[in-house]
Amino acid sequence: MVIKNKEIPLVLCNAKSKRTGKLCRQPAMKNRKCRLHGGKSTGAKTHKGKLNQKRAVTKHGFYSKEAILERKKTKEYIRKGKKLLLNC
Ligand SMILES: [Zn+2]
Repeated sequence: MVIKNKEIPLVLCNAKSKRTGKLCRQPAMKNRKCRLHGGKSTGAKTHKGKLNQKRAVTKHGFYSKEAILERKKTKEYIRKGKKLLLNC
């Protein structure tokens, strides 16, 4: 792509479609995202902003680190309990 007599390499957006799994392919901005997929956004910078973002996008937290760890521990307790019962 040529803008003001300068050759600028055309970078395409690397956002992936949920339905088709294909890439977006729109012209991207500096952060490799197009205007539709957060090209102008720099993301949350402050700790408070990051927490707000996390809270806003979390629906149930089933796949959160804490929930996964808790399920793992529960499975381990059940496994140990079964072993104890079998050994008696
Ligand atoms: Zn895009």
